[in-house]
This record gives sequence, structure tokens and C-alpha cells, in this order.
Amino acid sequence: LEKEYQFMVRVRMPGGMLTAAQYLGLDRLADDHANGTLRITTRQGIQFHGIVKGELKPSIAAINHTLLTTLCACGDVVRNLMTTSAPHSDARHRRLRDDAHMLSTALLPKSRSYYEIFLDEQPVAGTDETETLYGETYLPRKFKIGLAVPDDNSADVLANDLAVIALFEPDAEGNDVLLGYNIAVGGGLGMTHNRANTFPRLATPICFVGPDRLLAIVEAVIRLQRDHGDRTDRRRARLKYVVEDNGLVWVKQTLDGYYGGDLEGPRPMPKLHIPELLGWHDQGDGRWWLGVPVSSGRIQDTPTVTLRTALRRVVEQFGVDPIMTAQQDILLSNIQPGDRAAIDALLAEHGVVPATALSTFSRFALACPALPTCGLALTEAERVREPIVESLETLLRRHDLQDRRISLRITGCPNGCARSYSGDIGLVGRIPGHYAIYVGGDFDGQTLSFRLLERVPEARLGEKFGPLFEAWALQGQPDEGFGEFCTRLGRDALLALTGDQEQS
Ligand code: SF4
Repeated sequence: LEKEYQFMVRVRMPGGMLTAAQYLGLDRLADDHANGTLRITTRQGIQFHGIVKGELKPSIAAINHTLLTTLCACGDVVRNLMTTSAPHSDARHRRLRDDAHMLSTALLPKSRSYYEIFLDEQPVAGTDETETLYGETYLPRKFKIGLAVPDDNSADVLANDLAVIALFEPDAEGNDVLLGYNIAVGGGLGMTHNRANTFPRLATPICFVGPDRLLAIVEAVIRLQRDHGDRTDRRRARLKYVVEDNGLVWVKQTLDGYYGGDLEGPRPMPKLHIPELLGWHDQGDGRWWLGVPVSSGRIQDTPTVTLRTALRRVVEQFGVDPIMTAQQDILLSNIQPGDRAAIDALLAEHGVVPATALSTFSRFALACPALPTCGLALTEAERVREPIVESLETLLRRHDLQDRRISLRITGCPNGCARSYSGDIGLVGRIPGHYAIYVGGDFDGQTLSFRLLERVPEARLGEKFGPLFEAWALQGQPDEGFGEFCTRLGRDALLALTGDQEQS
């Protein structure tokens, strides 16, 4: 008797955008082929868990029948393109959405193998085009791209191998006109414990290109990584190690060669900012979007909250188009103003808690799947998100801090899938029931955090954060984020507060 192998299947959907019909198709798949849930990933995709071996091929075919695909959602290729999920109708957000779709299509591999293996396409001699971009051996490792504008970094772009930041300027009539793109390279948050030559890194701005040169520069960066990425050590195969090992001057010169010209240096730009996407928002075209919080991105029905049914009913009845966010929430877009009250009532009928009833802290907490579905997990993440949020929220309330913007990211291993090294607080699984505590990153995704403590038992996390929150309440400067405060104090002072000086 063969073992009951189970698979995770991930859907590629640039910018997390779906039509109502596509969402309903995926919702059906959750019952037909998976474990009855859909999970929003931190890269704006959707994953299905618990797909048994015999269902693998039919489930992938069913996804393709919804006019979506799993191609390039995994593998050593360009992964799901991320961008802001806010469905604003202005020129800046429209351009980001168009760019994400354009790059997502242009960067697909040319091979027909996927279609032959999973969709029974008959091979036809001579139809495979040459892989001009990926070459015969594809990339050394996965390659992640994110797009943003400075005032909407909800895609956390600097955590990507390649970050694209679009810069606009108003013309005489006040219309936003695209100047071009700042390009940053070498982001990536995965690391391996006990290997000092692996580390998280944020992308560094390296050049600026004009509005019509986006695909050219993106392809140039991919070719650089294809040819210079480490193919001998998979743990050091990402672009960030090429950048660190060779330096920015070498990267810029080499990139000039792939691009075919002397690239202009990056232009000055404002600080990045992550806006609030949950709750009701005016799209600017007469319609609205509603951001619905989804704890750990898990769309499911439980005895108390039937979120999956509620979302299905809203999408069916009101024809809204769902968008997944990098924060693992869902935005229901293109809502007519007259439907708002009915949608609120329908969600309440199913026990769905509106964003306004959650603290800011709870709204910005992320967790990766970890146990039991991720084979790399060292400990829990998704299943301990709620108790950890509740315990830290209680401490924050004690100092009236619960509505300050703090990001919490929990992962079950050092791979950092929930971007645990770039928020205010990162909890990284070390051994079962124990976490390394990272602090010092910033809310808007521009600063890396540092490791404060190793192997703290889950039950003692509150004991460590209590004195830190108290110090932030008493000594923090106005508008100083928790991570910024921790960076200003420094590791030794923080360890003195937690009573762990011997670790310094
Ligand atoms: Fe799995 Fe680790 Fe990624 Fe969590 S961070 S999903 S445990 S690989």
C-alpha cells in the first residue's frame, strides 16, 4: 500500500487580483480537491493544502479551467509578481497593476512541458521556443519581484530580489505623469540558522530607468542572476549573495553590460509608506472596496465564524472582484455604493469581525502556515498566531499602545516566508515551542531587524515584551515606531530591560 502523499498547490495571480468568477472557481476547488480551506499567501497568492496524490493533476487542471495557473507559482523562475492591492482608480495604481500583469506574462518560461504534463497537451515537434531569458538551466533559485509607489509599499517591495518603485510627478493640470522607475536589487529574507554566510537583506536602489524601459531592466537583472548566482550551494543561490559578495559597483557595471548602456543612478524618492487597506475605501471611480481581515490568510468556516461561506455569498450576490493582499487579507473591490449596508449585514450574519473591531496590532500580524502543512517547519506559527497576538495585545493595552502601528510576523523556521526580519517584531521558530525574537525593523519595510533573544519559550514571550513595551510607552519619542525605538536603544539596553544581559 502506498503512503498517502499530500501536496500544497499554489496559484499564480499577479498583484493578488481575481475576478469574481475565478474566486468562485477556486472556492469550489477547496472542497473538490483540498482540505476545505483557501489560504492567502504573503505574496498575494492562494494555496490549497491537503491535496492527495491522486487529486494533484485534476486540481491543477481545474485551476487552469478557471483561467488561472500554477505555472511559476513555484520553481526556479520569476514567482508571483507582487504589487499594491489597493484598487484605487488613479493613474498611479492603474499603472502598477498594468506593469505587474505585463511583467508576469513577459517573464514566463517558453517551455510547453507544464501543459503536456498537467493538461494533457500533446507534444508537437518544434513548438518549444528557445528559453532566451532563462536559458537551458533556468535560474539558480526562485526570483521574487515587487512593485510599489513610495506612498503605497503594501507589497513590502524591498524584501524582493528585485524591487521596482514607480516615480510620478504632477503635470500642469495636476495629473500624475510617470517619470520612470527606481530599481533596487538583492532583497530576500530567508536564512539558515548556524550558517553565518546566510542572512536576510533588503534590496538596495541601484539605478533609474524611463517609463518604456521597465521590461529591459528587469530582464537585465534576471540575466545577471542567471549567470552569476551560486549554483553550487542552494542556500546561497539568491541574488542578494551576488550583490553582497561582489559589491554594488560590480553589480552596477555588470548590469550596464546586460542592459546595454550606462544606467542612471537611482533618483531621490520619499520614504516608503504602508497604508491601511482594511475597512471601507472609496476607489475614486464611484465604487468602493471593503478590506476584510483574514487571520493568517486562512479562508475557512469554523463553528463560530463562517468566513468562507460569507465571502462566497458576497462574491456571488454582488459580483465583487476579490484581491489578495501581502498582509494575507482580502479586499472585495468594485462595490456599488448602494450595496455597502447589505454586504456589512451579510458578513455580520456569518460572524465575520469587521476591521474596525480589531486593534491595529491585530490587523498587522502575519503568520506563515508552519505545522502541520510545511515540511520545513521547526515549530508552530499559524496555529499560535491568535494566542500570541492576544497576549502581546494585553500588554500593549496596559500602556495604551494597542492602536499604535506595530507589525508582528511569526514564522515556524528561519526561511522568513512571513517577512519576519523586516517588521517591528519577528518571531522565528528555532526548536519546538521556542522562538528567536527579532526587533528593530520598521513598519514600512525599510529597515531590517536584529536578533534580540534566542530560543524563548512561547509561554515566556509576554515576560520579554512587557518591559520593552513599557519602556517604549515611557521613553519613546512622538511617532517613533516600536522597531525604531528598539534600534535607538540598542541591543544591550534592551537586554538589560528583559533581564538577559548575559546574552549580550
Ligand atoms: Fe515553512 Fe519556514 Fe516558510 Fe514557515 S517560514 S512556511 S515554516 S518554510
